[in-house]
Amino acid sequence: MFRHKLDQLAAHSLTRRLTGLSSATGPTVQFSGRRVILLSSNDYLGLATHPEVVQASVEATQRYGAGAGASRLVSGTLPPHQELESTIAAFKQTDAALAFSSGYLANLGVIGCLIGRGGLILADRLCHASLIDGCRLSGATFRVYRHADSAHVEALLRRRQPGRPTLIVTDGLFSMDGDLAPLPELAALARRYDATLYVDDAHGTGVMGETGRGTIEHFAMESAIPFHMGTLGKALGSSGAYVAGPQDLIDYLINTSRPFIFTTAPPPGAMAAAAAALGVMQHEPDRRARLWANQRRFSEGLRRLGFRLTASVSPILPLLVGTAAQAIAFAEQLLAHGVMAPAIRPPTVPDGTSRIRVTVTSEHTADQLDEALVAFERAGRTAGVL
Ligand SMILES: *Cc1c(COP(=O)(O)O)cnc(C)c1O
Repeated sequence: MFRHKLDQLAAHSLTRRLTGLSSATGPTVQFSGRRVILLSSNDYLGLATHPEVVQASVEATQRYGAGAGASRLVSGTLPPHQELESTIAAFKQTDAALAFSSGYLANLGVIGCLIGRGGLILADRLCHASLIDGCRLSGATFRVYRHADSAHVEALLRRRQPGRPTLIVTDGLFSMDGDLAPLPELAALARRYDATLYVDDAHGTGVMGETGRGTIEHFAMESAIPFHMGTLGKALGSSGAYVAGPQDLIDYLINTSRPFIFTTAPPPGAMAAAAAALGVMQHEPDRRARLWANQRRFSEGLRRLGFRLTASVSPILPLLVGTAAQAIAFAEQLLAHGVMAPAIRPPTVPDGTSRIRVTVTSEHTADQLDEALVAFERAGRTAGVL
């Protein structure tokens, strides 16, 4: 039975395989006995391997153990959990924050607390899969609006039954296109139509905004968007997620959010690493400056070569290719030329928009990026993309 289904996936170039690296993540990694330039990591600021971050993780592990030993409400709340939560709340300038074991779980756990049966959810067509699953699980009616199209959101709000509880759901920085949600327009619509706005800033945290507070800081919308979620596994180089917001919301989540309650507390080492990463991010602002310099260098290089990029304004630089088979062929050619950048195919992205999703980090050197551009040109020609 499984074989037949796997064969069907293979016939559409949709088989997925695990790619095992034999080194730590970084601008270059060891893969199949070779050094390759890695252009696929979400470790945007190189914090996963930063000595202070690693040290914090080791010390917390030695002191509190490899695992928390219980769920948060039982006896799994240890000093690293509480320290991380107060560090996030201070950084995000909210009353409180709550850690989850992953962004996927946070989205499953928060959306259902914000809305339920009888409610209406309006979600961006390109929302992350975890948001979509959270919307489905909530039991609310779930409508999709055209990507980043606030006029479409307004049309749907006008048509809803008066007084129906409504939640607008969006990524802050879209993970597969690298563009931003129109947060000022969405927040204004939420206010005008008495809806709630839920922003997932997994990729924006640490990357966007003057001080790295994220997409909401980028748009100077902090007073208008009182809570949001983000993850610890991307720019913060650790693992897990958080919700930052008013104390009442956090208390409500602690009391009702099943993916928070019924799971083992995140490992103390991961919490301590994320807290240390927040510190490093703030006292080494040059990391973000290098990230943006690399973003400019590489996106300009790709455009000069003639690649078709999405309307990205971030370190996520997707090259549109077309079919899943073409994207796979291109990714294989890139690997043959010493660059690891993944082919992203349906169902992660809509049909016909398969792509190579490049991410640059602060840690790539100019030489590595220039070397990667040569590989993109050669591989693009061989794969028939250029
Ligand atoms: C990565 C990601 C998640 C999932 O976070 P994990 O901590 O990896 O489970 C959720 N939302 C968005 C937008 C993401 O990019």
